[in-house]
Amino acid sequence: MRTHLTTSPDEAASYIRRGRIVAFPTETVYGLGADARRVAAVRSIFDAKGRPSDNPLIVHIADPAQAAELAACIPPAARTLMDAFWPGPLTVILPKSDAVPSLVTAGLDTVGVRCPGHAVATAFLRSCQAPVAAPSANRSGRPSPTTWEAVREDLGGRIPCILKGGRTEAGLESTVVDCTEAVPVVLRPGAIPEEALADALPEIGVEPPGGDAAAKSPGTRHRHYAPRARVTLVAEPGEAVASADAAYIGLRAPDEPESFATVRIAPSVEAYAHDLFHFFRACDREEAAVICAQLVPEDGLGRALNDRLRRAAAG
Ligand code: AMP
Ligand code: MG
Repeated sequence: MRTHLTTSPDEAASYIRRGRIVAFPTETVYGLGADARRVAAVRSIFDAKGRPSDNPLIVHIADPAQAAELAACIPPAARTLMDAFWPGPLTVILPKSDAVPSLVTAGLDTVGVRCPGHAVATAFLRSCQAPVAAPSANRSGRPSPTTWEAVREDLGGRIPCILKGGRTEAGLESTVVDCTEAVPVVLRPGAIPEEALADALPEIGVEPPGGDAAAKSPGTRHRHYAPRARVTLVAEPGEAVASADAAYIGLRAPDEPESFATVRIAPSVEAYAHDLFHFFRACDREEAAVICAQLVPEDGLGRALNDRLRRAAAG
């Protein structure tokens, strides 16, 4: 299959309207979308990615009002979060309506919904005239794509169209909050830190690592975000082991930076998050054998960043 590249949201949306799949930029990472109501189109997403069918897809909308079609009801706490963070990198899990095929939700009776805050994504979604089911646009298990080139690296020849945009701003996925219980719970840390969620909704809870999140959010069980290189986590830069085929990424420099093949010192946790997947892919192209990655303080965006680092290291 030839993969068509375009910068036109309308042209990309015409593929969705014809029941095909398209990769598109958002503020978090690139997504691979299909009309959420068309089962055959949604099935093509799982095929193109090699995604396990027990991993549900997030449904993306251009306008917050569209959530009403996808959800059986919108609990007050969900409404509070949607009002505070949409458009933006927040996914709310809601009881699903009959409009959502069970393939989208991997058989769950809930649906993840997000209204992205990204001008190109919004123009695309509006032009699709449909809710768009979209996981990240990478082959399953690989680092999420933060550029259209990364999408092409993984899915070129496997999907009909890529909507080209710039490099994504956040570089990490959305924060997923389960709003189906009395107390909303963060299932996956992401681009919106818990502290910000708690400002809007003080009673919000967090699923501890190894807690119920894996049962409630099947995607968090799967191997994820992994480059081909082995990822080694270090608490202090001094623990990073240098060699000609090792790379290093962290907030502070390793002891002998010149002994590494590639070194990226991020000036902030935000910059580290923005660069992480991009760096992983660059290391793969340079055939690094090991990536030493520094863990960051476990607060703010640091929780989501450490979560991705640990999952990449577990792969
Ligand atoms: P991805 O789009 O590849 O970043 O992954 C989507 C994430 O959202 C995965 O961790 C899924 O498990 C999670 N997710 C999507 N829909 C639901 C749902 N209905 N209930 C719980 N988690 C969900
Ligand atoms: Mg993904």
